[in-house]
Amino acid sequence: MKASPAEVNSTALGQSLQRQIRYCLSRDHLDRTALYQALALSVKEQLMDDWRKTRSSNMSYQRKRVAYLSLEFLMGRSLGNALLNLDLDEDCRQALTAYSVELEQLQQQEHDAGLGNGGLGRLAACFLDSCATLELPVVGYGIRYRYGMFAQSFADGYQQEHPDSWLSDGNPWEIRTPHHDLLVPFFGRVESYVDGDGQQRIQWLDTEKVKATAYDMPVPGYRNGRVNTLRLWSAKATDEFNLSQFNQGSYAESVAAKNLAEQITMVLYPNDASENGKELRLRQQYFLCSASLQDLINGYIGRFGNDLSDFASHNVIQLNDTHPAISVAEMMRLLLDEHHLSWSKAWQITSTTMAYTNHTLLPEALERWPVRLFEQMLPRHLQIIYEINARFLEQVAQRWPGETERLTRMSIIEEGADPQIRMAYLAIVGSFSVNGVAQLHSRLLTEGLFADFYQLQPHKFNNKTNGVTPRRWLAHCNPRLAALLNKRIGADWVADLGRLTCLNSQTEDADLISHWHEVKQANKAALIDLVATRTGVEFDATMLFDVQVKRFHEYKRQLLNALHIIHLYQRILEGDTEGMTPRCVLIGGKAAPGYAMAKQVIKLINNVAYMVNYNPLMKPYLRCALLPDYNVSAMEIICPAADLSEQISTAGKEASGTGNMKFMMNGAITIGTYDGANIEILEEVGEDNFFLFGLTAAEIAALQPHYQPQHYIDSSSALTQVMQLLESGHFNLHEPGIFDDIIAAIKSPTDPWMVAADFDSYRQAQARAGQAYRDTKHWTQMSIRNSAASGRFSSDVTIGNYQQQIWQVADHHQRHVAKEA
Ligand SMILES: *Cc1c(COP(=O)(O)O)cnc(C)c1O
Repeated sequence: MKASPAEVNSTALGQSLQRQIRYCLSRDHLDRTALYQALALSVKEQLMDDWRKTRSSNMSYQRKRVAYLSLEFLMGRSLGNALLNLDLDEDCRQALTAYSVELEQLQQQEHDAGLGNGGLGRLAACFLDSCATLELPVVGYGIRYRYGMFAQSFADGYQQEHPDSWLSDGNPWEIRTPHHDLLVPFFGRVESYVDGDGQQRIQWLDTEKVKATAYDMPVPGYRNGRVNTLRLWSAKATDEFNLSQFNQGSYAESVAAKNLAEQITMVLYPNDASENGKELRLRQQYFLCSASLQDLINGYIGRFGNDLSDFASHNVIQLNDTHPAISVAEMMRLLLDEHHLSWSKAWQITSTTMAYTNHTLLPEALERWPVRLFEQMLPRHLQIIYEINARFLEQVAQRWPGETERLTRMSIIEEGADPQIRMAYLAIVGSFSVNGVAQLHSRLLTEGLFADFYQLQPHKFNNKTNGVTPRRWLAHCNPRLAALLNKRIGADWVADLGRLTCLNSQTEDADLISHWHEVKQANKAALIDLVATRTGVEFDATMLFDVQVKRFHEYKRQLLNALHIIHLYQRILEGDTEGMTPRCVLIGGKAAPGYAMAKQVIKLINNVAYMVNYNPLMKPYLRCALLPDYNVSAMEIICPAADLSEQISTAGKEASGTGNMKFMMNGAITIGTYDGANIEILEEVGEDNFFLFGLTAAEIAALQPHYQPQHYIDSSSALTQVMQLLESGHFNLHEPGIFDDIIAAIKSPTDPWMVAADFDSYRQAQARAGQAYRDTKHWTQMSIRNSAASGRFSSDVTIGNYQQQIWQVADHHQRHVAKEA
């Protein structure tokens, strides 16, 4: 491609593109990377005026604002989303004709912003899109990790991790905003003193300060002229940080200290739904919270002056899980020590500003930090937490006099040889709202994990079922279906997904059914290309596309899926193919690098896939691929092409799930357990349009104490044979013993995931799905009904509920108000 002098277009975007190429790139040869950069900068330029207007409207209205604090924002790519939301797609394609390149080719140049692990980080990204679309004054605060979620490949079927240096070509979407930079203190010591007014106060002294440098990313709403902000903090060393060593003449050590400071934002911790306990992680958490809260207070003072007593009427801080829970103590510190408020005033402000979202019941994900770590790194916060705890336990003692057992249970400090701070309890005590992320999950929280707190303060607890943005997850990722929908029901569904119910009256329309099917087949062709390129496995669009993509975790039970593939493999080997529906099974996801069992399941699936694809007997009936490096951009190709959506977690373990919603929106039918938001999906779409199987959460809990997996193996001939084949070493002939842990886990009476217990029920549901797929018309009608019923899972609805029931941002000129489901 050569820079073309053509003046073919006259749109603002086209002119901006020419300008970027001529004056900003400094390139003589325009390759795709450079042209992508120029295009992204041009699109950002189109956003700048609206971004500025949004900021100034936020300043002029004396409105409440929301800060969404999250250690993760799994944004994916920005270009396509911005073009959709700004309605610049056509302009862009026209401008690109002068450069003989397709928009799609340039879009692929963009690195995913992979600043998150999975569902929790992607939820934060969907929420930002909905907040901007609903014109809510919400700022996202996060960390600008230099290395995001690792890239995944396989070597001999084993997962390999590679650093994701997503910023190496620069990030055209961000703007460095140095006027927001701040200092974040660490370490040091605490001293009390008497101030000029004779007040006893505390000082945090001799701290080492790290500079938080601000980078802003624009978050455009859907065609409404609004552009919100995602502010990401990056750590830089200050002189103060390495001052002591520098004074002693240790130049090299002082530079090493600089690296130590800048390490804070170097890398995203790749653990999904498990805590990690590393000191650096706590530093990341505190760094985000301190910088963001200081920024909020500075903003408040800029608007209203130095008196902070009305802060809570103008701010809500939503904590995305306990990762930013240290905010409770940091807010208290800032109000007490820096702004000299009394304890009771500071506590009143803090505890009416914070709101906490819980994301999991899994005990391994509950964050606890050793008191000794706080003594060193955050000594002032430890004092404050002790004081919060003492006052809280006094309340508990008043409510339940003499119940010392309960005091121990509810204490923010877990006593023991190595005392720990329970971050979830700190978050609950310090917040006015505590929510779970699906109905079942929120109920289980109040009945189990947080039952004591629910009894004490029931008014705090509420549910906000997750959602996903229909912009990225339907309009952008599935343009063929979007066009069909526009033709059939008009284009309003993009900002009002409930309108999809209009499809229900058309499910007998032959023209709709045939077009719907054609769209799915075309989307499958695109996925076939992706799978072939990345794995070499050839999929066939006439076969059932059976898809499970999500992080690898035992509770998500990719292992159950693997056992079913082995079962089909065995049947085909034996010639038992009567009535078998040909299927292509796609699995994708990353395992945390330290999660040995999840990595073994990856290896098992790769080995099973190898045996399946290698054997010509299988080809007409079964193909199997484990797609490497599953991420947001991969999901944009996968979910429009899926026929069957695998949501097969052990009941009671998946808090909500959001992958399930993306698939449903795009017309996949769910095979799933009665868990998380699956339950609500089932409620919307009905049993006839969902393949339900497995034990319920209550049945799982009841079975746990006397679970006998061998009983389930013995009473299912299918499972008996699957276990025999697996144990024979058929899938690991050259690597004896590598699946022993997996085999032992399935057979263990303490298997919390109860894979054996659900196998037969799963196998039968799979058979029903296979059977149903043979009737293309009926399957397509089920597909239409799934999309039609997905309106409730738009994150616009979710955010409408956060707004009405938690944030209550009074907003007289808000145009869209999402209705409650
Ligand atoms: C939606 C999404 C998830 C969450 O998937 P679940 O099936 O809900 O666990 C994880 N990763 C990516 C890249 C996603 O897009």
